[in-house]
Amino acid sequence: TVSRLRPFASTIFAEMTDLAVRHGAINLGQGFPDVDGPPAMLETARRAIAEGVNQYPPGSGMPDLRRAVAADRAARYGLEYDPDTEVLVTVGATEAISAAILGLVEPGEEVLLTEPYYDSYAASVALAGATRRTVPLARSGNGFVLDVDALRAAVTDRTRMLVVNSPHNPTGTVYDRESLTALAELACERDLLVLSDEVYEHLVFDGRTHVPLASLPGMAERTVTVSSAAKTFNVTGWKIGWALGPRELIDGVRAAKQFLTYVGGAPFQPAVAYALEHEQDWIVSMRNELQRKRSLLSNALSDAGLKVFDSAGTYFVIADLTPFGHTDGVAFCRELPARIGVAAVPVSVFVDDAPSWNHLVRFAFCKRDEVLTEAVRRLSALQ
Ligand code: PMP
Ligand code: GLN
Repeated sequence: TVSRLRPFASTIFAEMTDLAVRHGAINLGQGFPDVDGPPAMLETARRAIAEGVNQYPPGSGMPDLRRAVAADRAARYGLEYDPDTEVLVTVGATEAISAAILGLVEPGEEVLLTEPYYDSYAASVALAGATRRTVPLARSGNGFVLDVDALRAAVTDRTRMLVVNSPHNPTGTVYDRESLTALAELACERDLLVLSDEVYEHLVFDGRTHVPLASLPGMAERTVTVSSAAKTFNVTGWKIGWALGPRELIDGVRAAKQFLTYVGGAPFQPAVAYALEHEQDWIVSMRNELQRKRSLLSNALSDAGLKVFDSAGTYFVIADLTPFGHTDGVAFCRELPARIGVAAVPVSVFVDDAPSWNHLVRFAFCKRDEVLTEAVRRLSALQ
């Protein structure tokens, strides 16, 4: 392995899922749902295979899907994208992220991340030969907020891109309009590109609304937004995502994407297009279900004696191990599957400053009720 990738040799999600499988543990580590998406969407994929939609789709993705993505963005947020030039279908949001960084950031330039950050950001920055700088989220009440002043202080003349993720993995924070507006002002002031990872855009709870960064003043022209069918329609294994942005930026993303995978997932693309057009109600009911599961797991973790942070969105809730006399989240997560048959993920793997975050552990609640209830029963044995 080359030196720039050596720190990323294996992801924590793979490690914890392996451990869960080995010990027959309930996997609340890696975030994936355990029920399928809308039946008519699944049927559309089956039919596409039967009808021979099995060869390379166009390089930017199938026109129907690009149109459906653009129409959804317009209907939902009033944001207009040209499906021919400003929408790129990718192999999951993961590829959109890597391709955006590879296609838009020069080696040696800096990419600013907030920590905790989703693991692929740091690896993609390394792949591009760029440098990452990280700024921690600040604590606020029982949750976290963006620290825009600290981000401002971390911008240098070499900073090219800022990566933002709201709703936020792993903390479940949903940034409010005010802090996103302050962030947008910083991006404009310092002429930064912004990569806005909005894969959890539909998973916001308690009546909150998702604010797409590209909707704020001055942002449409500098923002590449990524999202994905994975979290929208419970198909993490289909790997259909997309990048949206002004033509000049999407050209850069496409230039990288075409040599990473060229194209992906032909028969899944019409199915996701179908779902975006016809399954909006399904998204709403899934969000309501997840909100209930969020409360179920958060309350249970709290009853088990952990200190639980507020989760306002995503699949995830994080908890503080300190009340258990534990401060080492990595050791805790490595022993948990064998000890009680539950897997979780340490938050310290999402950061550069591991000691400050090592007492926190992330649990996923995107599981069937009976699975969550059994996990909760096992977790109560921790006391
Ligand atoms: N960004 C975030 C914040 C994620 O949690 C994930 C994982 N689902 C991804 C991107 C990757 O999405 P995909 O599975 O579509 O590649
Ligand atoms: N995004 C999911 C998570 O945070 C899974 C990602 C992965 O396995 N790479 O758990």
